[in-house]
Amino acid sequence: MELLNRLEQQLDGLREKSLIRRRRNVETPCAPRVKVNGRELLAFCSNDYLGLAAHPRIAAAMHEGVELYGTGSGASHLISGHSRAHAQLEERLAEFVGPNLIDPRALYFCTGYMANLAVLTGLAVADKNTEIFSEALNHASLIDGGRLARTTLKVYPHADAAALDAMLEASTATNKIVVTDSVFSMDGDLAPLPALLALCERHGAWLVVDDAHGFGTLGRNGRGALEHFALKSPYLVYVGTLGKAAGVGGAFVAAHSTVIETLIQRARPYIFTTAAPPALAHALLTSLDIISGDEGHERRAHLNALVAQWQDGLRLKRWQRLPSSTAIQPVVIGENEETMKMAAALYEQGIWVGGIRPPTVPAGTARLRATLSASHTAQDVAQLINALNELERSCHGA
Ligand SMILES: *Cc1c(COP(=O)(O)O)cnc(C)c1O
Repeated sequence: MELLNRLEQQLDGLREKSLIRRRRNVETPCAPRVKVNGRELLAFCSNDYLGLAAHPRIAAAMHEGVELYGTGSGASHLISGHSRAHAQLEERLAEFVGPNLIDPRALYFCTGYMANLAVLTGLAVADKNTEIFSEALNHASLIDGGRLARTTLKVYPHADAAALDAMLEASTATNKIVVTDSVFSMDGDLAPLPALLALCERHGAWLVVDDAHGFGTLGRNGRGALEHFALKSPYLVYVGTLGKAAGVGGAFVAAHSTVIETLIQRARPYIFTTAAPPALAHALLTSLDIISGDEGHERRAHLNALVAQWQDGLRLKRWQRLPSSTAIQPVVIGENEETMKMAAALYEQGIWVGGIRPPTVPAGTARLRATLSASHTAQDVAQLINALNELERSCHGA
């Protein structure tokens, strides 16, 4: 068949460039030690930053949620799928991140990907004369949301507030939307949010902050990037995801109540999909308790200590450690093939670190992306540091 042949040729092209991706079947809960094919591995690739993905209290709450609400929601939120559990979660989320917003309300989504599609399409519906200003290293879901919004989409250079300022100045759009990751998912650095917000307030633009990697980990209370930078503004539209540090799944948008009402009425990725199982929302109430309580404080402190240990311990000459102060700690190797060989060499030693290639990162910057979690011990992190230091020495001489 000609059609299948063309797909096969496409796949062959990926194989030749070392760009074929594969999935591994994990047989145990998400944790530092997982089993794959019966073999135990020390894993540094999940986004379970606080180690809550298999937490007994959250698991018990999930069971309770199933007892209370069954397994499925049965319909979209605007038909009959909106459960009391969803409503309770939204209230708690609005309360939790509310100190950084004005007249806050929150809206729960099945995934962060959908939340981002909803925010960008939803903010664009009110005004035909909309322009979106998107940071160069933004997550794919923000890029796709910008496309789906069917407006002019401009990309500003990474972390470059001056360039953004000039672009906003030149814009004649009446509805301007600036959108950025707070923590860049493949680099681990933070967006200059205070400078970006000052620009947005000056130019009358929305600032959409995707805090997928900051919610739960950043800020004294784990409220995320807005708390970390002490920002507060009616221009802020905050997206937090709940499948990473929160250990369950889904996402939420928090913003001024008028923005949230607009999304409920107009955002197609919210309207035309079945509501997530209410048991997830019920479990997330316990996750929020943990994140905001003493245990959350302890877990964040431990995670920060591991990040410091990593920064002190890595002795790389050729490969590059990026200047990240978050749980995302990439080591840039460069070429796809060498990067995947190094990931395979670590895997042989029983250490699982993801190799990241284009198009996820720019060509020539393939990297190992280690993510640290509060569930790792200092010994776990030492083992990874030693393995990487050794590996580079053995590949490139002393
Ligand atoms: C993971 C991620 C998302 C998507 O969230 P999901 O809940 O996994 O769909 C969005 N933005 C960023 C920056 C992410 O890292």
